[in-house]
Amino acid sequence: MKRVNDLIVFDLESTVNGNHMVFRPSAIVMPDGTLTLVDTGLPGMKDTIDAQLREAGFSLADVKQIIVTHHDLDHIGSLEAIVGQTGAAVLALEDEVPYITGEKRSQKLPSEAETQKLLADPDLDPARRAMLTRPPVKVPVTRALHDGEELPGGLRIIATPGHTVGHASVYVTGSKTLITGDALTSQDGRLNGPNERATPDMPTALASVKKLAGLDVQTILAYHGGLVTENADSQLKALAQA
Ligand SMILES: [Zn+2]
Repeated sequence: MKRVNDLIVFDLESTVNGNHMVFRPSAIVMPDGTLTLVDTGLPGMKDTIDAQLREAGFSLADVKQIIVTHHDLDHIGSLEAIVGQTGAAVLALEDEVPYITGEKRSQKLPSEAETQKLLADPDLDPARRAMLTRPPVKVPVTRALHDGEELPGGLRIIATPGHTVGHASVYVTGSKTLITGDALTSQDGRLNGPNERATPDMPTALASVKKLAGLDVQTILAYHGGLVTENADSQLKALAQA
């Protein structure tokens, strides 16, 4: 866990298909002292999130709303469990809502027909088989958000499609903090573009980077890669021009 201004950044680790990975959901400390969670990690991470909130002097009981950047499992895996415990409101961009409620099939899965073909292969990698047969996460969304909408407490929602159709980034106007979800990545404080392998629509994703570069930014949090605190603004503007 790391705290920078009004942002608590979680440090959630897991080994996925043999790869060690770190996920960074976050909690924004709102002017009224409540918390807004941004994303929730993989399934089974609720208690670790609570433990890290307690290190910061809070707990899950302080979470009043959860903004979901997009429906990939590493972002919504613990959503149902956290909503079950807290009763927090779930907010997501309109275009992303049907993928969170389970009304539409995940954009990252192959078509039904292709899936059946893959599952018929006895040599299919077991991890891949588990992914293809996993029941979809189905969590009701309390409120659909719109591009440019500003939530009470100074949170601006920015549509950053590309990684998914309804991907959202969150801009905290007070501290000029930009939470990018997977619209950007980072490594050791260096800001990088979206992950090409995991981003189906790169031209749209790159247009989203240009859009983000119009903001006046002091701190950036990328879900994969973590905080960028030094020259965040100039790094973002340089990426948008590349
Ligand atoms: Zn992700």
